[in-house]
Amino acid sequence: MKTWVPDSRNFACLNWKQVDALPRESTLLVLPTAAIEQHGHHLPLATDTLINNLLLGHALAKLPSELPVYALPPVHYGKSNEHLGFPGTLALSAATFMAVLRDLGASLAGARFQKVVLYNTHGGNTALVDVMARDLRAEFGLRTFTLHGAGGVQFEGLSPQERAYGFHAGEVETALLLASVPELVDQDAYTVNYIADIAKPELLLPENAPATFAWLTRDIASSGVMGDPRPATAANGARWLDQAATKLSAALEAMARYPNPVKT
Ligand SMILES: [Zn+2]
Repeated sequence: MKTWVPDSRNFACLNWKQVDALPRESTLLVLPTAAIEQHGHHLPLATDTLINNLLLGHALAKLPSELPVYALPPVHYGKSNEHLGFPGTLALSAATFMAVLRDLGASLAGARFQKVVLYNTHGGNTALVDVMARDLRAEFGLRTFTLHGAGGVQFEGLSPQERAYGFHAGEVETALLLASVPELVDQDAYTVNYIADIAKPELLLPENAPATFAWLTRDIASSGVMGDPRPATAANGARWLDQAATKLSAALEAMARYPNPVKT
């Protein structure tokens, strides 16, 4: 899989003697979590994994060089059972996903590392990542952090409708891939689908509401798209990428400087 993580920040490029020489109190290890799942007719299965690596790679490149921050290899598979029924979606159960994070946390704690950030770019993983950050803290004494998506970037230029309900294979994801791997975007195959209309407030909504219903993509979006990819441009993707990398980099720096040692 293509990577934007600089070799100098790539944990898997080190040998074990180099790993053993890393300062345990200050080294921050980033564990990316994403998905291999359908993203409509126009984006690749690895979209969430590619975006994770793209944003993280650019964020790491902005860090002060003296900070010991390394990206671990990503957990490519995620809890994607909302997208089952679309060929190509490869999903882990919640129990398996959490067990993978726990086992990796055990390995890192066993090597006496202390600081780990779970960086997630797939919505189906979000609740589990939050649970596991606390569990790894409680069980292994790791100082754990979470980081999600684009780090809070506003995605200037999105319509209010797309901002609220363009959350899968819509304008943002399409623009980020147009800016980075345009050869993987089929611009002739866009489909548009919104699962709710912000102009029609309903009591029960699929997302972004106090009262929701649990949804499966095949029930509400036959093409697999939830959003509108048509306005996506490479220029907006490049701008949002740079803004996200700046936000994510600031968060990683704050985590790297967060006081240690951990008291357990
Ligand atoms: Zn996605």
